[in-house]
Amino acid sequence: MSAGLNLAQLQAVHYTEGPCLVLAGAGSGKTRVITHKIAKLIENGMAPRRIAAITFTNKAAAEMRERAAGLIGRQAKDVLVCTFHALGVRMVREDGHALGLKPSFSILDADDVTGILKDCAGGTTDVATARQWQWTISNWKNAGWDSRKALALAQDDHQRSIALIMQRYEERLTAYQSVDFDDLIGMPMRLLRGHPEVREKWQRILGHVLVDEYQDTNATQYELLKMLVGERAHFTAVGDDDQSIYGWRGATLDNLKKLPIDYPHLKLIKLEQNYRSTSAILRAANNVIGPNPKLFPKTLFSELGEGEPVRVVDCDTEEHEAERAVARIQSLRAGVNPQPAWKDFAILYRANHQAKPFEKALRKANIPYKVSGGTSFFDRAEIKDLCAWFRLWINNDDDPAFLRAITTPRRGIGHTTLGKLGEFSGQHKLSMFGALFSHMLEAVVPKKAHESLLEFGRYLNDLEYRARHTLGAEASRTFMLDWLKEIGYEQHLYDSEDSESVAAARWSNVLEFCDWMSQRAGGQIEDAAGTTTQTEVKSLLEVAQNIALLSTISEREKEQDMVVLSTLHASKGLEWPHVVLVGVTEGMLPFKLDDDNGKQEKVSDDIAARLQEERRLMYVGITRAQRTLAVSWTKRRKKGRDMVQCQPSRFIKEMNLDAATAKEDPREKLRKLRAEFAARSTVQQPAP
Ligand code: ATP
Ligand code: MG
Repeated sequence: MSAGLNLAQLQAVHYTEGPCLVLAGAGSGKTRVITHKIAKLIENGMAPRRIAAITFTNKAAAEMRERAAGLIGRQAKDVLVCTFHALGVRMVREDGHALGLKPSFSILDADDVTGILKDCAGGTTDVATARQWQWTISNWKNAGWDSRKALALAQDDHQRSIALIMQRYEERLTAYQSVDFDDLIGMPMRLLRGHPEVREKWQRILGHVLVDEYQDTNATQYELLKMLVGERAHFTAVGDDDQSIYGWRGATLDNLKKLPIDYPHLKLIKLEQNYRSTSAILRAANNVIGPNPKLFPKTLFSELGEGEPVRVVDCDTEEHEAERAVARIQSLRAGVNPQPAWKDFAILYRANHQAKPFEKALRKANIPYKVSGGTSFFDRAEIKDLCAWFRLWINNDDDPAFLRAITTPRRGIGHTTLGKLGEFSGQHKLSMFGALFSHMLEAVVPKKAHESLLEFGRYLNDLEYRARHTLGAEASRTFMLDWLKEIGYEQHLYDSEDSESVAAARWSNVLEFCDWMSQRAGGQIEDAAGTTTQTEVKSLLEVAQNIALLSTISEREKEQDMVVLSTLHASKGLEWPHVVLVGVTEGMLPFKLDDDNGKQEKVSDDIAARLQEERRLMYVGITRAQRTLAVSWTKRRKKGRDMVQCQPSRFIKEMNLDAATAKEDPREKLRKLRAEFAARSTVQQPAP
């Protein structure tokens, strides 16, 4: 159990009787402390279900569960390893009735919210404006405000009008028995604050709470944590102030600053050895982060040897940059034994849209890749269509889901009918689904339309009944395929797409989704390697209840041998042997900093803070690399329709690389490759 931990890590793992903060730089084994501490707590006799480990993404949660299983075996599956949001769902499902919410409430995603906000304003608003409101409302919610407070504190007419929209939005959410993502933190907090019996229950259940990536929690998450752990304060937070990169989303370093004040007995542990990167890479990282102000002084060293120098690659355009990244990957794989896998490489960039030229170049070179942190599987329209049906099975009051399900595929029920149904349900304080079965509806819509509506309602009830009684993987898969056939979903995809290949790709996503859903219903499961395992059998309805929060099909992802393309934000906590950090061009990273609205003084403060966050982003990028790192930038870059001249990012200079070794000389590279090739062909002479 103590294998593979240094003294400071052991200290953090063994300290279980009070609040503990592990504060340390990248790759120093913070996440490893969390997994080992889970094992230690169980070894000490704590029941696995009394331990909660909170991670930043679902993917990180899946990985941590797996690592914990490696240490403690089957017991790991009972540990609550999840994001703050997933924990919120669990709490609200169990105790939301105290806030007037049914356990079958729906979770709205960002697009649903935009739609509802547009609707709240009368429907004529454009999406961009609705998104701005959404942003403002989300910030208010994260600060713990409701519309009443927002209205009272509004500083001008603009804010007042958003507060009024927020009020209508809140009313709709209550009517739909739905919550948005911010509610998943805000509601548990209100539950714990306002309901002592609920608070005591959760404090009793949770024997120890562990939080990874603590530097990126926001104010409400911190409040929630405090209330969950109560006076006893048995928790372990691990984090790195130099990797705080979600300030733009309300995360605040104040949480780190407050911890020693709120918990005077806090045990502070620092880790200083980095086990991830070579000295050359770590030095570049330390040099970059150097100029940023420090919350706590830290040092970090590596014993993995000097390693390859960090390379700077100058490129002409983004296409050129993509070609060079691909060439680098190919040359790093050439002539090395054992050959690195594709999944040992990552290409990291600032913003999603930068992926395109790299995707093209990788495709051209026949290199398998996957884009992570971009549009997730569950954001695809076809998957959302199907999820809308599930949401409706579970929560009949979910009007947004109702509208989506009744119109995909279209079943001859027009907008006028739906408009009338909406009006009727509003007048009678019913959900749209509930309104279907009202006797009085007949008087409002034409006979034929009424019949179609009723038929849809009955079909839905029937599906729900069947889903509730469909158990295990096999049966669930058959059920889903039958259902898709009944509603003509495949045909719908072909009818609504101009291109057949796009329709086919979307249908194959649907099939993958069916597989994935049914696997979760348990029973005898066969994995890719052909091994069968027996897991707990669930009904399809139960499975559907838990999908709202998942954003990756992580179990499948990790098996794939592919180069990873990722944003820097999504790369947090991860590591790869070889990293190419691209678009390290002034204006991209740091992202354009000049901003001319507001007062001059405020702007310069703002710019300084934003520059610091960009620098942390660069630090995160560099420290993802284990063995080699290349940093590239382009002399020209597309900006709208124009090409603009660019400069290398100031961060390249700040890395303070040894000029003689950093520049990658293509001729030198070629010479080396030739020499390697010659050496290999001598070795590979056929045996006599
Ligand atoms: P980040 O700040 O990027 O989240 P981290 O501090 O969480 O990094 P880990 O991911 O836990 O660091 O560890 C980095 C790497 O070092 C992992 O591959 C981990 O297995 C390894 N490692 C951590 N501690 C040790 C140790 N004591 N001995 C050997 N390897 C270790
Ligand atoms: Mg980590």
